[in-house]
Amino acid sequence: MISDVISAKDLHKVDPVFGQVSFNNHEQIVFCNDKDTGLKAIIGIHNTVLGPALGGTRMWNYNNEWEALNDVLRLSRGMTYKSAVTGLNLGGGKAVIIGDAKTQKTPELMKKFGEFVHSLSGKYITAEDVGMETADMDLVREVTPYVTGISESKGGAGNPSPITAFGVFMGMKAAAKFKFGNDNLEGKSVLVQGIGHVGESLVEHLANEGAKVIISDINEDRLEAVSKAYGAQIYRGQDLYTEAVDIYAPCALGATINDETINKLNVQIIAGAANNQLANEQVHGAILQERGIVYAPDFLINAGGIINVYAELEGYGKQEIMRKTENIYNTTLEILTNAEVNNITTNLAALHVAKERIETRKKENNK
Ligand code: NAD
Repeated sequence: MISDVISAKDLHKVDPVFGQVSFNNHEQIVFCNDKDTGLKAIIGIHNTVLGPALGGTRMWNYNNEWEALNDVLRLSRGMTYKSAVTGLNLGGGKAVIIGDAKTQKTPELMKKFGEFVHSLSGKYITAEDVGMETADMDLVREVTPYVTGISESKGGAGNPSPITAFGVFMGMKAAAKFKFGNDNLEGKSVLVQGIGHVGESLVEHLANEGAKVIISDINEDRLEAVSKAYGAQIYRGQDLYTEAVDIYAPCALGATINDETINKLNVQIIAGAANNQLANEQVHGAILQERGIVYAPDFLINAGGIINVYAELEGYGKQEIMRKTENIYNTTLEILTNAEVNNITTNLAALHVAKERIETRKKENNK
């Protein structure tokens, strides 16, 4: 999760917030502390030009607060561009809760977090991310309406992960069409790193299409279960990043494409769900371009989840959710083509589309 521009141990050497390497003109950063519940959280609001800042809450056992701040800054910026490139009227925000979701998450802590979200009067709307379940969002809903991703029985659109996985699958197929001239993934080898909520669902799509799926996770029980359910092969090698496969799908945490891994990669396509896969967008995006590895930008192809939760705000149903998510195929193909024509990285091509939309809206708002 740490940007490789500055190492974790050096993060404290820069100015605390506005001087952070990942600070990107964020509008607001809120530090939340509650002694009684042990809540320590940071809410990052990057940009609200297109609408309220919507983005999930991640609970993670960060090594230190700098790492948590760095993560929320990077993640909230990513949300701005994700919603913009997907055509949603949403800004970008994200929250992180510092702690172990397995042992430190309590209903009281979640509700206290909800109160902090509520205090922002809708400028930030939360949802689930790593370490969160739909049930946690239901708890947050008890204290604030500014939450999405709640249970279907409570009027929500339910778990966004299967929709995210479907969008990633669409983006992966578009990348295959671009690279191989055919979007059928039958027989293609796909390494899925992280088989959690999204990863498992992606494995299911891939297995149904006849891809040769290889899975990796730090959770051995999940590996066994997913392998058994979908006939996926468990990766047992020493260095995952050297594995020769057609497609690498990062579906765990961010920044796995970094100085250490990038030159080892022996893949044709990178397309996965994890946010912020490139530790450094410019540097690593350019190396992938040079090496002819097609990178389907993460914030473009993992937008299914945000499309799903946006439905709760806009009141559209499952059919429209699926239509919008399926359209990730077309957008990805357009952006990959556009990057090639203009000889720029795919990440930059996607960013251009997103930034243009924000700039246009800004001008309209200022008229
Ligand atoms: P999750 O917590 O359910 O799954 C993550 C999985 O990765 C877990 O099984 C975990 O054991 C595994 N993992 C952690 N570190 C690993 C490592 N070093 N190597 C291999 N496996 C490792 O999370 P999720 O909801 O499936 O999300 C996965 C990624 O997709 C995250 O980066 C998240 O931000 C992103 N994402 C999720 C959604 C969504 O709808 N859930 C939407 C957009 C983006």
